[in-house]
Parts: sequence; C-alpha cells; structure tokens
Amino acid sequence: MSFRLDRFATLYLVNPLRRSASRNKPSIPILMYHSISDDGETGVHPYYRTSTSPQQFASQMKYLHENAYRTASLPEIVSQLQGKGVAVEKQMVVTFDDGYRDFYQHAFPALNQYGFSATVFLPTAYIGERPIQFKGRDCLTWAEVRELNNHGILFGSHTVTHPQLRELSVPAIEVEIADSKATIEEKLGSAVESFAYPYAFPQTDSDFTKMLRDLLRRAGYENGVSTIVGRANHTSEPLFLERLPVNSCDDRALFNAKLDGAYDWISTSQYLTKMVKARFRSPAGSAKHSISKDFPAVQ
Ligand SMILES: [Zn+2]
Repeated sequence: MSFRLDRFATLYLVNPLRRSASRNKPSIPILMYHSISDDGETGVHPYYRTSTSPQQFASQMKYLHENAYRTASLPEIVSQLQGKGVAVEKQMVVTFDDGYRDFYQHAFPALNQYGFSATVFLPTAYIGERPIQFKGRDCLTWAEVRELNNHGILFGSHTVTHPQLRELSVPAIEVEIADSKATIEEKLGSAVESFAYPYAFPQTDSDFTKMLRDLLRRAGYENGVSTIVGRANHTSEPLFLERLPVNSCDDRALFNAKLDGAYDWISTSQYLTKMVKARFRSPAGSAKHSISKDFPAVQ
C-alpha cells in the first residue's frame, strides 16, 4: 500500500487542530464520484483513483443515512451559501462525473434505498441509444438517463467530448458547453443549469476561469462544480464549487474527516502546486494552452 501523505496529514495533523478550532460559516460537502465498480485500478496511487466499489459506496450511503445526513441539490446549496435560504445541518450533495453506466447498476439502488438524490454529469458524445464506452467503461444510454431522471436523479453537462477546455478556442468552448446543454434538455425536456469542468480545474489561470465563467453564464448555466478539493462555502464561485473526491481507498476515518472539513487543506496545496507549475511552464507566467497533470489529476 502506497504511503498517503494526504490521509496522514488529514487524520493526524489537521483533524485534531480543527477539533479545537471554532466553527465559522457553513461549509457543505459535495462528494465527487466517478465509477461505482470493482475496478481495482492496479498501479494507480490511491489519491488518483476514480473508482469506488459498489460495496463501499453502499456502506458510505448507509453511514450518511445513519448519521442523519440529507442530500441537497446544487441550486439549493448555492442559494444557501449566498444567504438566501435556510442552511440545514448535515447536508451534502452527491455528484458523479462521466455518466458511467455503473451508476444505473450500482449507485442508484443504494441512493434510492435511503431517499438520497444525486447529480450526474454527462459528456454527451458518449451517451447514446446504445452504450458507448468512455475511458474503457460503458456509459449510460438515453433511455437509462430518462428513467433515472423520472426517479429524481438530476443531470448536468460535462461538455460534449470531455476535452481539455483550456486547449480550445473560445468558439470551440462555446460549442462544448452549449451543445451538451441543448442535447440533455432536448432528451429530458427540462432545463439544464449545472456544469462540471472536465479534468483538473486550472484555478490559478484567472484570465481563463473568468472567461469561462462568463461563457457559462451566457450559455444559461447557474451552478457548477470543479476538481478544487474542499467543501463549498460562502467564498466559493457558484460555477466552480469545490468537491471532495471519493474512491475505494477512503476508509471510514478518511471519509468522515473529508465530510467534516479536515480535508479542506488540500485546496491550498493544490493551489500552490499549480502556481509553481505555471511559473516553470512559462517565464511570463502565462499557462495558457498547455496540458498539465495538475495536483490532483482527478477528472
Ligand atoms: Zn470527467
């Protein structure tokens, strides 16, 4: 088993400090899942894995239910974080990226058992009338998406082709965010207002993130999520909310610490790592049009 600096620091350094610190404004955990399967992801460091076993996922949902958590939607929490709604104790948002078919097979039954909702982000080029594979795994079909939607599962855009958006021209970005939204709206007959940024979010490139925020707003998006690690709070950008990545390697102690905010320190580490990388990439400080394996490289 690889040594996990993130787990060690979270459980033994940050958690004890947090226990003695006073609570401030509300922060809401948004869980980020990808595949719910027994894919062991051999050779991948636990920090970068994106698969959660069905057994572990069911156990996490049971734990959340037993600890009186309730699920909220992204519009609900954005409204609360902006001070418009009443903040509820022990709430969380459950999200799934990439639209894998194992959501239908393994995640939905466990969510449904406890009355939990979730938002699934679809890369629409990989959602068809028959299963299409993305990164070696089957994706949902439109019939399954419609069925899940009828049972309360929400859907958002994860672009059309799941590209590195930062590598694209502005018109190409506009197509990715507008066409995916229009396709889901047409297939479901309801408005789509949530977006999930594919790949590691370039949070240090403020020119790009401001431009993307404006394009998303113009396309009609109201809220969204990113791969910035942490819990959403009153300082969050509503279109790029922080999330907590979860995979099979999250034992109960780490899962609980993440929910409780003891993992939020990772975002500072992420930011600093990206700043350093951006400096090394370009003496002028411009990191545009370069692919980086940012920390963490979750999708
Ligand atoms: Zn993705």
